[in-house]
Amino acid sequence: MSSNAIVVGTGLAGLTTTLELLNKGISVTLIEKTGNFGGNSIKASSGINGVPTQYQNDKGDTVDFFIDDILKSGKGLSNKDLVEVLARNSREAINWLTGADNGIDLSLVNQLGGHSHARTHRGSGKLPPGFAIISALTKKIEQLSLESDKLTILKNSRLDSILNDKNNIVKGIEYITEGDTVKKSLNSDIVVLATGGFSADFTKSSSLLAKYRPELIDLPSTNGQQTTGDGQKIAHRDVNANLIHMEHVQIHPTGFIQLQKDPNAKWKFLCGELMRGIGGVLISPETGSRFINELNTRDKVTEAIENSCKISHNELGINPNSQVALIVVNKEDYLKATNHIGFYMSQGLMYKSTISGLQEVITKLNPNVSKNAILQTLTDYGNLIKSQSDDDIFGRKTFGDGFDSISLDTEVYYGLVTPVLHFSMGGIEINKFGEVFNEKGDIVKNLFAVGEVSGGLHGYNRLGGNSLLECVVFGKVVAKRIQEILN
Ligand SMILES: Cc1cc2nc3c(=O)[nH]c(=O)nc-3n(C[C@H](O)[C@H](O)[C@H](O)COP(=O)(O)OP(=O)(O)OC[C@H]3O[C@@H](n4cnc5c(N)ncnc54)[C@H](O)[C@@H]3O)c2cc1C
Repeated sequence: MSSNAIVVGTGLAGLTTTLELLNKGISVTLIEKTGNFGGNSIKASSGINGVPTQYQNDKGDTVDFFIDDILKSGKGLSNKDLVEVLARNSREAINWLTGADNGIDLSLVNQLGGHSHARTHRGSGKLPPGFAIISALTKKIEQLSLESDKLTILKNSRLDSILNDKNNIVKGIEYITEGDTVKKSLNSDIVVLATGGFSADFTKSSSLLAKYRPELIDLPSTNGQQTTGDGQKIAHRDVNANLIHMEHVQIHPTGFIQLQKDPNAKWKFLCGELMRGIGGVLISPETGSRFINELNTRDKVTEAIENSCKISHNELGINPNSQVALIVVNKEDYLKATNHIGFYMSQGLMYKSTISGLQEVITKLNPNVSKNAILQTLTDYGNLIKSQSDDDIFGRKTFGDGFDSISLDTEVYYGLVTPVLHFSMGGIEINKFGEVFNEKGDIVKNLFAVGEVSGGLHGYNRLGGNSLLECVVFGKVVAKRIQEILN
């Protein structure tokens, strides 16, 4: 069996690349090691960035502001060429998803941490953005696989190795189908790796987390269990692909603690950044007070939780070595995200309560916290909202609504959150066309990497909403480059 291109992985990077290749008349074999499409992309809950778009109310936003925000968050490590490609093609990416091609609703726009403007898009309905996008693209791909002889889909089939000739030109792959013991080989002109990150790589013998960040191995993860860095390991082993920024693993500050099921579970559900974007407040059980600008970048918020949110008591069954914060949303802000919060409540991740209820919870984590701490904290926050001033000692500049004339009986929604492994900034080094570099700095001919498997774009810290965007923008860029190579 041979085909023009093999795409490995069915997250947003793999699906976008496949659709774009098919659109250019290039035949594709799409390989996925699990039985389902979507990888971590299907879990994405906050949204996808784009500037400038028809959905942004904030007409002051520009591509240059977006680029500045990414470079700031990357702290000098991001490859500027990749950042330019990402930001300058972001509007087209949103148009491709929402337009006639795919018809996905991304009409609501929010501001996430580290962004100077509101530019993260999601739908107005019940579906989280990752689910909505992956469902639409999957449907299209499955339809194409019935209609077109240019697409072959192999599920439950794991990439095992990359084949190359004596001139180091990639010629295809070997893969193993679940239940088989024998590897099969597949020749092709092009191989595209879209196998995702390694933030759940707890594999005993070859864990990339253990190799690059051993101190993080005990943290819980938001990622699916398939996220084991296969693409990075195989490309490095077989074609000497250069791996960069591997030590930069994003710890998301807010993974939900599921009190009723298993408060110390290794696999955690993400508390989307949107909760802070709509106005959510973080409170420390150590003091009963806020301790950070909730809209700061993920690395800063995580660091603040690690430094300010130790618990002294485990009446709720949480490991006493954990760092835990309360995320609190008032009724006014709840109305901006009823679908999200409704879903979180249905899963036992958030609860409806009152300020006195919150005070009881916090006392279970720290019996010494002052009796009126939470009421005082939220009253102070309400005053900031009222004045919309720059007086917040933590530097928050945009607030939610509400917390006006509150009392112990005021309705609130809350959850308990803790830092979690979330995203691998590092990966296979690529150029602005998605072509892979080897350790000598040469391009590995006919091999591409797209999405989280690649490294260099996000640098030190990824901004929320940029990963889905990376998958779409670079999926399209790579398909265009492949067309040029094959013509
Ligand atoms: C809970 C959660 C919420 C998130 N929310 C957002 C958000 O709101 N906005 C945003 O921009 N980003 C978000 N992210 C990050 C983003 O979802 C991912 O980084 C991104 O979608 C990665 O896409 P991908 O296609 O590169 O990889 P994935 O979507 O992870 O797909 C990789 C695929 O490759 C397959 N695969 C792996 N190894 C092999 C192999 N050896 N052989 C065959 N197949 C293989 C996997 O099974 C998987 O299906 C979130 C991540 C998580 C975990």
